[in-house]
Amino acid sequence: APRTHWLFGDQLGPHFLDPRRDGPDAHAPLLMIEARSVLRRRRFHRAKAHLVLSAMRHRAAELDDRVRYIKARTYAEGLAEAGFGGGNGGGGRLTVCHPTSRAALDFVTARDGIDVLPARGFLLAQEEFGAWAKEHGGDRLRMEGFYRWVRREHDLLMDGDEPAGGTWNLDHDNREPPPRGSPALDVPAPYRPHEDEIDDEVRRDLDRWERDGEVAFVGRDGPRRFPVTRREALAALRRFVAHRLADFGRYEDAMLAADPVMSHSLLSVPLNLGLLDPAECVDRAEEAWRAGEAPLNSVEGFVRQIAGWREYVWQLYWHFGEEYRDRNALRHTAPLPGWFLDLDAEAVTANCLSTVLAQVGDTGWTHHIPRLMVLGSRALQDGWDPAAVTDWFHRCFVDGYDWVMLPNVVGMSQYADGGRMTTKPYTSGGAYINRMSDLCGPCAYRPTDRTGEHACPYTAGYWAFLHRHREPLSSNHRMARAVKGLDRLKDLDGLLEEIAERGDRAP
Ligand code: FAD
Repeated sequence: APRTHWLFGDQLGPHFLDPRRDGPDAHAPLLMIEARSVLRRRRFHRAKAHLVLSAMRHRAAELDDRVRYIKARTYAEGLAEAGFGGGNGGGGRLTVCHPTSRAALDFVTARDGIDVLPARGFLLAQEEFGAWAKEHGGDRLRMEGFYRWVRREHDLLMDGDEPAGGTWNLDHDNREPPPRGSPALDVPAPYRPHEDEIDDEVRRDLDRWERDGEVAFVGRDGPRRFPVTRREALAALRRFVAHRLADFGRYEDAMLAADPVMSHSLLSVPLNLGLLDPAECVDRAEEAWRAGEAPLNSVEGFVRQIAGWREYVWQLYWHFGEEYRDRNALRHTAPLPGWFLDLDAEAVTANCLSTVLAQVGDTGWTHHIPRLMVLGSRALQDGWDPAAVTDWFHRCFVDGYDWVMLPNVVGMSQYADGGRMTTKPYTSGGAYINRMSDLCGPCAYRPTDRTGEHACPYTAGYWAFLHRHREPLSSNHRMARAVKGLDRLKDLDGLLEEIAERGDRAP
């Protein structure tokens, strides 16, 4: 008889059930466990809780008789209820695809009777990455080299041995400021799902749990914006490739206050729920380029995000090990201020930060530049504890999972790993935000002002950050020149005093 197969809530696509190549047994009965303790422990964004529950319950409805869906307090209780208590609890053998977090992996490997199958939903196996990493410098790995290797291995955007179009990297075409004078990009709107009775039921449950004081959330659970079924995910992918991919590249790093999505794909939620396989996403994009429907800079940019960054981050999560979570190379220890924890956009004067915090509160999503250069940069400049920042991102973003948060926040955003993930800290003064967005125009602060009533908190914070870490940063060849600039600042003392005076009040 086939072994029962346990599906985690981020393993919802058909590729998790394919019995070929070390998959679950053909026709295996399925088990899903909705464990409420996960929600109880931390204050998640309510839209995120909604998405995960809605996706799991939709999948269960599709699988119908084949799945046993158990609502329990914990996974252990759910397993016991399903008759897989292990030990004296009895039960047969279970299979499960390699989970996406260390905690879940430890849980399944520590129990008797569970066979862990290889991970799915990524392009490369961990062993393949391990071999590559060994060959390419162990600790000083770089995304670019990794990405080129993946392109060759998977024959992605290749013309024979050469990268399509003769170049690997079109980043320089993909950093344009937003078009001036227009509040939104002129591109067709992204796919929007329709809610159904399963969403209604999820809302009712969340209301009840909140009322009973069992769980507490942040953010608003407005109309659902992201796919939760395979059908919705495919429709979103199709719409993106057909109507929005062509403009993806050019404005990839730009921000517009009234158009938070711009040309981004909004595919991180269905990808991270396991509803889409990354291979199909990059293949569709490449087909669009080969058919002349999207320019190479956009297609290469999108392939780089998925086959490069997403895959790299997944591999590094396992490669760096558990200690990575607690890295704090810059010794930042300040707690997150209340206004930030509560997503209190109205408490914030700085227009960029207020706008982005409001987006997070409303949707649980912003694109990568607000995450990195507005939210993450604020945390870095103000010296907030990187583990607490990671926890905040994990809870507040609809696409946040342990594996994707750790390298992105500890490494990329907070430089808490001392440079294993990036070659320099990502932070900037207000000039960058001004160039790349329309957020500074209406702001009470001026990006050029370091001190005084109109001092931009990013500009002042940038110099204060360089000052605080002058010593380690001056030996970084990408930062040395910026650090030297400190010597020319006549108003550094005044600037530091003003920052100290602000304390953790909202800027
Ligand atoms: P697009 O811009 O359309 O990109 C296409 C896809 O590429 C994304 O859907 C995503 O799957 C993938 N991708 C791009 N960059 C990354 C990356 N750095 N890591 C992983 N995947 C990437 N992404 C998450 O999926 N979950 C997170 O919790 C998350 N946290 C982040 C935290 C910080 C501080 C930063 C700087 C980035 C984070 N990212 C995270 C990466 C990126 O911001 C989001 O994947 C992206 O904004 C999602 O929107 P999109 O689907 O429209 O992406």
